[in-house]
Amino acid sequence: MILTKLPNIINDLNTVLLPRVCFGCNARLYRGEQILCTPCRDQVPLTEFNFSEENSLDRTFYGRIAIEKASSFLIFNDIGIVKNLIHYLKYRNQAQIATFLGDWYGPILKRDTGLPAIDLILPVPMHPKKRRKRGYNQVEGFGKRLAHHLNASYRDDILIKTTQTQTQTQKSRIFRWQHQTPVFSIERSDGLSNKKILLVDDVVTTGATLEACAKAINNELNAAIYIATMAMVP
Ligand SMILES: [Zn+2]
Repeated sequence: MILTKLPNIINDLNTVLLPRVCFGCNARLYRGEQILCTPCRDQVPLTEFNFSEENSLDRTFYGRIAIEKASSFLIFNDIGIVKNLIHYLKYRNQAQIATFLGDWYGPILKRDTGLPAIDLILPVPMHPKKRRKRGYNQVEGFGKRLAHHLNASYRDDILIKTTQTQTQTQKSRIFRWQHQTPVFSIERSDGLSNKKILLVDDVVTTGATLEACAKAINNELNAAIYIATMAMVP
């Protein structure tokens, strides 16, 4: 009895000593809650997109790249819970937020009858220099958990970033539109033809990065490309 209760007691003690708080509203998290408190979790704006019906994200890619279908999980607004989550994930060392989102979205994708069986999940890569500075690729935990739920392979050694671009916060939106030209390439292609690839990223704004990634994949591999992101700017 004592032994089975011990982890909970330790967890509660830990909560008192190092209170865990909600990344959405700073309220204290209770046992069973992770990353977000229950009210925030219920309020998170979901896109409600799926892989069967056309959505606004698909339309942004028309005429730009040959992909099968795109979807996004959350709606990114200028203020609010999703913005807080992404901020903490990217700039405050909170990589576990990506895992949390992957474990939330993964079962939804698994039930999505419009998404065929995915072979490979590829994250939008970071330049190695930037990765060293941040310590992690913010998309990694998301991609790995989606791979787990979809029974696919997560591979970060296939699609590689070859030029460094400045972080988005250092540039105005207009400047990014005009000057950001990320270059990606395929590092290895052995045994990778005719695969169904799910390309994953954090937030889609203009779609330029995903476009460049999909082009690199299409140049080297004969693949069916699907896209899933944590969030999108509406
Ligand atoms: Zn909250």
